[in-house]
Amino acid sequence: MSTKVTRRKFVTALAGLGAGSLLPAGVVFPAIKTSKTSSDPIVKGAMIGSSRGEKWGEKVNAPGYRILSSGGKLLDAVEESATVTELDPEDSSVGYGGLPNEQGVVQLDASIMDGPTHNCGAVGALEGIKTPSRVARLVMERTDHIYLVGKDAQKFAVMHGFKVENLLTEKARIRWLRWKENMSDRDDWLPPAEGAEWYEKRLTGTINILGRDSEGNFAGLTTTSGLAFKIPGRIGDSPIIGAGLYVDNEVGVAGATGRGEEVIRILGSYFVIEEMRRGKSPGEACKAACERIVAINRRSGKKKIDFNDKFVAINRKGQIGCYQIQGNKKWRPSVSWIDESGFHVHYGGYLFER
Ligand code: ASP
Repeated sequence: MSTKVTRRKFVTALAGLGAGSLLPAGVVFPAIKTSKTSSDPIVKGAMIGSSRGEKWGEKVNAPGYRILSSGGKLLDAVEESATVTELDPEDSSVGYGGLPNEQGVVQLDASIMDGPTHNCGAVGALEGIKTPSRVARLVMERTDHIYLVGKDAQKFAVMHGFKVENLLTEKARIRWLRWKENMSDRDDWLPPAEGAEWYEKRLTGTINILGRDSEGNFAGLTTTSGLAFKIPGRIGDSPIIGAGLYVDNEVGVAGATGRGEEVIRILGSYFVIEEMRRGKSPGEACKAACERIVAINRRSGKKKIDFNDKFVAINRKGQIGCYQIQGNKKWRPSVSWIDESGFHVHYGGYLFER
């Protein structure tokens, strides 16, 4: 059973926690919505944030924050928060239950980066392992490499005791099959009995986890099943350090979601970090990355921007922000976090109305 706590009780409860104690798992963090602020809000002390907003944010951020608030390690905290969605069969964009490639095989990408050491690790096109973020961390900590991909990344995971499992849930299999049936009227597949509906859309989804400990160190993690129905072997921006994720302990942490090829073309998360280093706030830096993507597309003659990208970031002052290319009143970019004052959601801006 969940227990609602007031903000005051929550802060008092936190203050009373000694090292080694954990916030009870059922506690619902008091929500403080900051959607009306146009400038980037400030996080208070140690925090775990993510690119998930009101709907999933608290569920994702809470396990990581519990670890941090009980004196645990920042890397453990970001990893724990990432695995919430990776293990959730209902989430179709990350880990187990993620939408598969065009052949019906789920291929996962993930990256992790540690601020104090500037170390990083990543896996790409990893099959059969529910938690690619845990494998990315092992690449970072147990090898002197940064990337492992495909079958060899899977072998590495098995050596570390991971089980190879079928990651294609029934829900994902049906969506894949409908997509295939709806692909073309020139192949031998008949259209879905239910009609075309949304199956025409290429679904995407990823999660960025942003972490800051009480000493002001950063860590970040990005995990995804990538672009739905992609060509087998395709990896997007998520496992590419500098594209889907970047951390610089002197500046902050940034992550990206959305059309990965566009993010790679500008090394988006690195771009955001460098813009913050030059003095932009996180929200402004995320906006600048969106503008750069649009600019390079315009330069190559593209008139209609038919994709979306979103960036989230936090800087050394503890300001947090986000921005995306397309949006509307109902669908704005958000970033959520839990810090010592509770659960927060901040809504950023977007370049174009969609
Ligand atoms: N960025 C991910 C990729 O391109 C997908 C997404 O975030 O929607 O693989």
